[in-house]
Amino acid sequence: MATATQAVQLTDSVTRYVAKTRQMLINGKWVDAVSGKTFPTYNPATGEVLANVAEGDKEDINRAVAAARAAFDTGPWSKITPSQRGKLIWKLADLIEQHAEEFAQLESLDNGKPLAIARIADIPGTIDMFRYMAGWATKIEGNTIPISAHGAKFLAYTLREPVGVVGQIIPWNFPLMMASWKLGPALATGCCVVLKPAEQTPLSALLLGELIQEAGIPDGVVNIVPGYGETAGAALAAHPNVDKIAFTGSTEVGKLIVHAATGNLKKVSLELGGKSPNIVFQDADIDATIPGAAMAIFFNHGQCCCAGSRLYVEAKEFDKVVDGVSQLASKIRVGSGLEPTTDMGPLVSEEQMNKVCSYLESGYSEGAKATVGGSRQGDKGYFVKPTVLVNTNEKMKVVREEIFGPVVTAIPFKDVDDLVAKANATEYGLAAGVWTRDIGKAHRIASQLRAGTVWINCYNVFDPAMPFGGYKQSGWGREMGHEVLNLYTEVKSVCTPIS
Ligand code: NAP
Ligand code: MG
Repeated sequence: MATATQAVQLTDSVTRYVAKTRQMLINGKWVDAVSGKTFPTYNPATGEVLANVAEGDKEDINRAVAAARAAFDTGPWSKITPSQRGKLIWKLADLIEQHAEEFAQLESLDNGKPLAIARIADIPGTIDMFRYMAGWATKIEGNTIPISAHGAKFLAYTLREPVGVVGQIIPWNFPLMMASWKLGPALATGCCVVLKPAEQTPLSALLLGELIQEAGIPDGVVNIVPGYGETAGAALAAHPNVDKIAFTGSTEVGKLIVHAATGNLKKVSLELGGKSPNIVFQDADIDATIPGAAMAIFFNHGQCCCAGSRLYVEAKEFDKVVDGVSQLASKIRVGSGLEPTTDMGPLVSEEQMNKVCSYLESGYSEGAKATVGGSRQGDKGYFVKPTVLVNTNEKMKVVREEIFGPVVTAIPFKDVDDLVAKANATEYGLAAGVWTRDIGKAHRIASQLRAGTVWINCYNVFDPAMPFGGYKQSGWGREMGHEVLNLYTEVKSVCTPIS
């Protein structure tokens, strides 16, 4: 029998799943890449190859787009009723629930996150997203419009129609959940999709493809092409027969997507990086704020676009909050995601670990000091210790740029206007946190922050019904909620004289 410290036993199906080279899903068939090439995906806890995957490229993207085009233009998807679409999405959610443990294990193996986190956050979040979107399939409505043109009587109304074939490019931090944020609204609105998962974490999206087939979603409606961003991703973003591209990832690549989309002026939505301020006032419930501030940065190893990575604390409570967050950081057990005792796994890749460590070096060279952590952990796998940096200021790279790792910079403040200016002095605008007992102040500051989400006395609260997205260079458009339906639909005005 397993003891508390033994790694979790993988299910037979997961062991079998990773043992076989995974193919791509095009037009309802599992196929090799046209080139015959494959690429490895790694287990970041060991640095060893976890599985091999078909390497999609331009030719595979062409085939996938052709399949999606046919399914949309003339195939069954265009004829299916909204109610049938809703039922199929709900069925997919049920199937994911039945396979929840397999998904959680694959996610932990491929991304590195603790199995417990995948079980309580990633997989339920995915299921909730599909169920929420299943409900929307039957509620996408236009309006009747009273118009005055020509002084005559007209009947004028709007239709909300699916935007068409959508290319979706997703990152590695929440691989399955990001797939659901993209596929859920696309399927609800009646679009067809070519999805490219991140090269670091393609496995859960491919398993999802099997369930999409099992649910009875027709061939060609969802095509899944794993591969590299510079090849498969770029081909998808530039494709002339794709009507819209939805992207989540770095701001740098987001700009490349915008350029690639100009060829046919496809619609673009972007969910990009962040450098979110987390603001603690001295009148906050400090005992609740300290774990909140720690979770805001250390959840998912800091690999969250909305991570509360700039901690601003009112001067009087600065030392107490920094000490408290540092103490909690020192207790975080860093290890393999499959160990039941692990609180924080490895970063997703060697590249990501090196990037985070080079930010730490940059911080030290500019005078920052780590109160806890501050370096790589061990020499096998891609582990970085949870880190709190003090002696930092807004001129430093570690305060200005997105680190995307378990590193928070802490800065004291005295003047509230100055604080708001500093909190907003970033090219990003994804999220922010405010901790205070003063309800008026909380809402006043929330209104002054240029960010798509403001959490008051909480952090990292997500719900499929609550829109999420960025101001400024954190993105274009909002995912989730009914807002996202606008990104996947075109509005058509229809009018006719009736007198
Ligand atoms: P990334 O390069 O932006 O990758 C995101 C997705 O875009 C992946 O599927 C990637 O494919 C694809 N891609 C890359 N280059 C492309 C191109 N030229 N055309 C089309 N698609 C392309 O992000 P990353 O390299 O994984 O991480 C780098 C940094 O991005 C992180 O350190 C972090 O700052 C940020 N990031 C933000 C988020 C977020 O949720 N906002 C998520 C992940 C990363 P490949 O996987 O093959 O590269
Ligand atoms: Mg991997």
